[in-house]
Amino acid sequence: MSTIDANLQAVQQIIGAAAREAGRAPRSVALLAVSKTFGFEAVLEAVRAGQRAFGENYLQEALDKIAAVAAAVPETPLEWHFIGPIQSNKTRPIAQHFDWVHAVEREKIAQRLSEQRPAGMAPLNICLQVNISGEASKSGVTPAELPELARRVAALPNLKLRGLMAIPEPEANFEAQRAPFARLRQLYEQLRADGLELDTLSMGMSADLRAAIVEGATIVRVGSAIFGARHYS
Ligand SMILES: *Cc1c(COP(=O)(O)O)cnc(C)c1O
Repeated sequence: MSTIDANLQAVQQIIGAAAREAGRAPRSVALLAVSKTFGFEAVLEAVRAGQRAFGENYLQEALDKIAAVAAAVPETPLEWHFIGPIQSNKTRPIAQHFDWVHAVEREKIAQRLSEQRPAGMAPLNICLQVNISGEASKSGVTPAELPELARRVAALPNLKLRGLMAIPEPEANFEAQRAPFARLRQLYEQLRADGLELDTLSMGMSADLRAAIVEGATIVRVGSAIFGARHYS
């Protein structure tokens, strides 16, 4: 068994245990393997171990990797998620090559993704990134501006608004980790109560996976616990 295979199994066990702890079905939490900075060989190893969904942050690196992986395993349907910050001049290749985008925080970016999604492809799945750590982080829509942004994005034709995403400030303590995830879930429940059909909470990374699942994560984005330490981020 490769290291990546063993790591994937270990992460799946953490997911299963955390889900059961929260009274949730382990299958209600999807594992997104964050392969940024790692080569396509690492992705292929994960594919051989059964992993199908991958997250990338850097566009050019991602496009090269998507092409190399598709050439190596053309018969295996994979799901590619763009999870990094999005510059408005880079939306077209994102709309063309990805299935999901997790860090949408502005209407203008969403409009461009919708306009540039190629005809004949399924709608692009979208999560809105919310700034739940306040001053500490500059990324993400504020909770106050979220409802209006969500309504506008949900109305765009070639997108499917699936839910919310957040990257809280790192905290070592489990209870401290839970608090921002609980806030994100409250915002999500409020949008659903207001009539938006959302089904995704993208939250939790290698270091705070369990807290995120206990608070309702439906996608966890895990990099280093699967692929090892990154030499740049
Ligand atoms: C890098 C990254 C991850 C994975 O982080 P790890 O700590 O390696 O698990 C998850 N989400 C986003 C948005 C990232 O940029």
